[in-house]
Amino acid sequence: SGEDTRRRLTILGSTGSIGTNTLDVVDRLGGRDRFEVAALTGNGNIPLLAEQARRLRAELAVTADEHRYDELKTALAGSGIAVAAGRSGLIEAAERDAGWVMAAIVGNAGLAPTLAAARRGADIALANKECLVSAGSLFLEAVARGGGRLLPVDSEHNAIFQVLENDQRHAVERVILTASGGPFRTKTLDEMRHVTADVARAHPNWSMGLKISIDSASMFNKALEMIEARHLFGLRPEQIEVVVHPQSVIHSMVGYSDGSVLAQLGCPDMRTAIGYALSYPKRCALPIERLDFAKLARLDFEAPDETRFPALRLARRAMEAGGVQGAVLNGAKETALEAFIKGRIGFLAMAEIVEKVMDKLSNLPAAATMDDVFAADEKARQTAAGLIPIQ
Ligand code: NAD
Ligand code: MG
Repeated sequence: SGEDTRRRLTILGSTGSIGTNTLDVVDRLGGRDRFEVAALTGNGNIPLLAEQARRLRAELAVTADEHRYDELKTALAGSGIAVAAGRSGLIEAAERDAGWVMAAIVGNAGLAPTLAAARRGADIALANKECLVSAGSLFLEAVARGGGRLLPVDSEHNAIFQVLENDQRHAVERVILTASGGPFRTKTLDEMRHVTADVARAHPNWSMGLKISIDSASMFNKALEMIEARHLFGLRPEQIEVVVHPQSVIHSMVGYSDGSVLAQLGCPDMRTAIGYALSYPKRCALPIERLDFAKLARLDFEAPDETRFPALRLARRAMEAGGVQGAVLNGAKETALEAFIKGRIGFLAMAEIVEKVMDKLSNLPAAATMDDVFAADEKARQTAAGLIPIQ
């Protein structure tokens, strides 16, 4: 019964969109009766982090922001919950023994803690796509050496994971990533030029964090997902297709050598993918809205437009170049994205900056160690920053 069969888990990025959805799934699957929370981490939202930690009686709560250590300490006074902050705190959270770790920190900040959890052999529920985009095979090697499982949470990759039988991998011809097309699917380049972050963040189908929402509008999110798919499923770049599917009902597909195409469908709700990663290889019961096909009536598809959405072309370029070009693309993209959010550059300038940084850093050697990955990321950020006007 109860106590001794409880599974230990940690959520890196528990206060974000994926993090709060993960806690919702944990609650629905039995909460503290079935799960023991080793650690939770957040950044700026201390009240939410403290509330989550108290409610689930986490052993450790960590804020990534060192300046908020005191605030978190005060918020958890008398609870018996350990508190830590900063990069070392995040590593401490990742290293606590928990068999299942949700990697849901946004951006490259998630790489070091996720790697720490992978190295000690935890099963990694991977929402943080940046781990694979930046560190690719080095990250996969760390997971393999640690001996844990890599469970894709990004909805497209989770869909592929669901329909990809291990003993049929040799027969995979292609994967087809679906893309909603975002809020600017039908906009012209001129219309996109002057949009603000507030307009760009309004995703038609999914409710997500600020950065990934804007990345969906520019299709940089799909660009990252192409590189993510390449590593996760061991594909050649030409095996990865993207199709725009505005309803976001088909979450992605796998095409096999006999002409069969297998798809995973559902209402757009990240709790499906999170629940699958938490229950794998079983499935759990979740109160996700059910698809009503008669009401849907139709599903639409169209080819993506790489002129209006150059991010897709840049992803192909990064995949073909290999080496650290994924880290370069992502580092430059994160820097340009922050500048766009602050209103310092226009929407279209994000892809222009990424392309220029890739031009300038095309000769960086492949990474032998994780330090090389971090160095390439840093170089890309500096180079991108040099292309952003100072206000
Ligand atoms: P979010 O912005 O809602 O949450 C991010 C989390 O990371 C929060 O807990 C925040 O406190 C923490 N964080 C922010 N900056 C940090 C830093 N510098 N160091 C440590 N922690 C920090 O983001 P999200 O939408 O939940 O996305 C999280 C990850 O999951 C991203 O990599 C995203 O691409 C991926 N993802 C998200 C969705 C989605 O539906 N939201 C879908 C697929 C993949
Ligand atoms: Mg996705």
